[in-house]
Amino acid sequence: MGGEATDSDDISRAEYLGDAWLDEDARAAFETESAEGPGLFLAAAGTALVFLTFVLVVAWYLTAPRFGQLWEPLPWVLAGAAVGVVLYLALEYAGVILTVSTGKPILLPLAWQGRLALRFTPIATRMAKPLGKTVDRMVHSFVRVNNAVVESLTGKVAGPVLVLLPRCIQWAECEQPIIEDAEYCKRCGKCPMAELMDIRAGFENVEYYVLTGGRVAADVIKKVRPAAVIGVACERELLAGIELVDEIPVVGIANVRPEGPCLHTQVFIEDFEETLEHFATRKRSG
Ligand code: SF4
Repeated sequence: MGGEATDSDDISRAEYLGDAWLDEDARAAFETESAEGPGLFLAAAGTALVFLTFVLVVAWYLTAPRFGQLWEPLPWVLAGAAVGVVLYLALEYAGVILTVSTGKPILLPLAWQGRLALRFTPIATRMAKPLGKTVDRMVHSFVRVNNAVVESLTGKVAGPVLVLLPRCIQWAECEQPIIEDAEYCKRCGKCPMAELMDIRAGFENVEYYVLTGGRVAADVIKKVRPAAVIGVACERELLAGIELVDEIPVVGIANVRPEGPCLHTQVFIEDFEETLEHFATRKRSG
């Protein structure tokens, strides 16, 4: 999912989107599904914030005398800067918690909220193992937080809603070229595409693209210029996609992998339809 991925950095990172499960460690660690509520990510982010505060206090305590020898007020200038950073992050964190728990964008300017949860993802994913969770569960929790924040900021959109689906959602033996056009799906019911196509038929201005990788996603977003993006993928790809997209609301729906990564993946249809309903307008009946 590539949003404003017009610069070379974004494109080069996007290439990795389709490669999320290529390494052996990732395959060995796979779970059929990694469902996790927003609490895990919020707990990890809060712990990281407390730890950062502790580190800054200790660092200040150890270095203040030396800085004081250079210039007497310097330790207090540094202390003020550190307090400012911690307060800023704490304010963001409080904003995310309030938004997730109320569904309303509380406390922070709108422009911040779409991205700020991302600030905590690098440390939160590192904390997954010590907390006895897989990285996928931590990322699943982050995606739930992201979705809550994005949906609190965005309702029905005027432009197209772009739905990005992974190729592995298609029945492996199906020869319909749905990568070229989802309309080629004959709705035989052997994979979730049939139900997804039925759902799309009930909404206005929704476009489906079945993707082979991240570079394609970036190209599709540039072509469609969507007002909102819904990505269906594994947690690793969703995180990479959410990181890539700026300015366009993007939410993720983690897939289910009963046969392992990248084969016959499933999607919770009700979750998908609910998410689509949030952004897209239903066609009027009659
Ligand atoms: S539902 Fe569509 S994509 Fe899935 S196997 Fe049938 S024809 Fe192929």
